[in-house]
Amino acid sequence: MLAPEVETRPSAEQHARDDASYRAQLGYLFDRSVFYREKLGAAGFPSADSAGGLAEIAELPLTEKRELRLTCTADDPIGSHLCAAPSEIVRIYSTSGTTGTPSYIPLTTEDLDNWVTASARSYAASGIAAGQRIVSTYNAGPFVAGAALAAFDRIGLCHIPVGTGNTERLLMAIELLRPEAAVLTPSYAAYLVEAAAERDVDLRGSSVQRVLVAGEPGGGEPAFRAQLEHGWGARVTEAMGVGDIGVSLWGECEEQQGMHLGARGFVHVELIDPETGAALELLDGATGELVLTHLRHRAAPLLRFRTRDHVELWTSPCRCGRTTPRVRCLGRTDDMLILRGVNVFPSAVREVVNAFAPDVSGHILVKPRAPGVKQEPPLPVAVELARDAAPDAALAEAISQRLRGALLFQARVELVPFGSLHRSEYKAKLVER
Ligand SMILES: [Zn+2]
Repeated sequence: MLAPEVETRPSAEQHARDDASYRAQLGYLFDRSVFYREKLGAAGFPSADSAGGLAEIAELPLTEKRELRLTCTADDPIGSHLCAAPSEIVRIYSTSGTTGTPSYIPLTTEDLDNWVTASARSYAASGIAAGQRIVSTYNAGPFVAGAALAAFDRIGLCHIPVGTGNTERLLMAIELLRPEAAVLTPSYAAYLVEAAAERDVDLRGSSVQRVLVAGEPGGGEPAFRAQLEHGWGARVTEAMGVGDIGVSLWGECEEQQGMHLGARGFVHVELIDPETGAALELLDGATGELVLTHLRHRAAPLLRFRTRDHVELWTSPCRCGRTTPRVRCLGRTDDMLILRGVNVFPSAVREVVNAFAPDVSGHILVKPRAPGVKQEPPLPVAVELARDAAPDAALAEAISQRLRGALLFQARVELVPFGSLHRSEYKAKLVER
């Protein structure tokens, strides 16, 4: 544990500290943030005092990403939530958004240091420790993942960056430099299991004992994780960040019971009902959309930011001794489909299908018939067969039945030959749009 005093602190004590940080952060927003002064004023909160403390936070309005974007102009490309002077900004990341202009994420020296501190705690939770070697596969470039790489230095690891999309170079680095850990997206981790088999490389027998996955949901789903652990002969844990809030805010420990909040003290966590926006109680097993608030951020702090991540959350202490809340990401709102009132996440479909290994390869593609979120059943799902497996109507029927039983929607399963669905060396595309 990198910061045992913080990570094992009783929750009530942490809450009192966070409440003090939050009140100071609100004061800072009213002083410096044009965006929040206007937004909170319009909602009936003319001052920091009128907004109260953490106990009253759910009375304040939520912040959507598009609201921030709407305030961006040529003169103000970051947006009106920028609080720091240009001389205080030491780094400007961009989001990897696929549409239009990127949105910019500025950081002060202190913000960047806090990001690295939180990220280091999250990654260290996996059990990697100073003196070990880690090979990374992120082409961080302009993206916030760059700050996660600094976390490896902070932990004291020997970091071997090889970048994305060069499988030969990665397999060679593993063979020659013998790292104890590898960090990559779960899709790329799955791709490498197949790539190694095709090249007669013994990944299971390699030096890698820990595979740290991040960047997309899936690494915490039991069947998918089992497949990765079998292929790598290694323990798989996951980490998760939210670009606008912080990099690798969450990281899973060796108990594999969800990702711990590494950003404790820097970020306040809420869950809401994504339909109504109503705050939900943080009980063990609660599910909802993750809403995050900066507690000590300077450059462009956010209040009640909707992350679009649907998570399951636990607040009971973990066997590892940490008292921080834990989450597992169920999927992104953006990927969610609704069939007759039932929310369906493509990563959850993949998880159900994966239970049919070794008959299936683990690759799926959901093919909505209509644009938009609402779909009429049956929902077409292409399921790739394992290498050398023949199509079998009984298998397709069994998968459909299991999907109906587990996820409560009617699917039309189409079995497709091995190798026919796209493999990703970065993030998997599970929905055809
Ligand atoms: Zn734990």
